[in-house]
Amino acid sequence: MRRACDWCGQMYTARRPDTSRFCSVTCRKRNFRSPRPPDISKAVTNGKAKPKVDGSLAKTIRAELEYLGLDETTPGVLVLDLAERIEAPNTTDSSRAPMAKELLRIREQLLHSAVDEMDPLHILQQRRETKMTEGA
Ligand SMILES: [Zn+2]
Repeated sequence: MRRACDWCGQMYTARRPDTSRFCSVTCRKRNFRSPRPPDISKAVTNGKAKPKVDGSLAKTIRAELEYLGLDETTPGVLVLDLAERIEAPNTTDSSRAPMAKELLRIREQLLHSAVDEMDPLHILQQRRETKMTEGA
């Protein structure tokens, strides 16, 4: 039986349709750690505000990147990869620290570039201000 994974939504073939909920062990583990992913894509499409995500580091980073449209850029992918590695249960504390540092550094650069060049709210605000000035 084909069904959608309860975690990532991907279609997969369930061997035991009654009990099967996830496409992979990874998704099952992730759901166990923090049930159900937030529907970020919807939040962005309808959304006015930044999506609120309570959950893992990787999810928070992903939400930020998707909101800014940076999730498919090279540094965006890198940051996500780092976040996932930091959270991986087999990551040791000693390797976590430098990864966290690197993540924060790249993330800051990304956010800066987004605010400088393509922050949609900023652009909207500017347009609105221009219109108001013209109307007055
Ligand atoms: Zn899945």
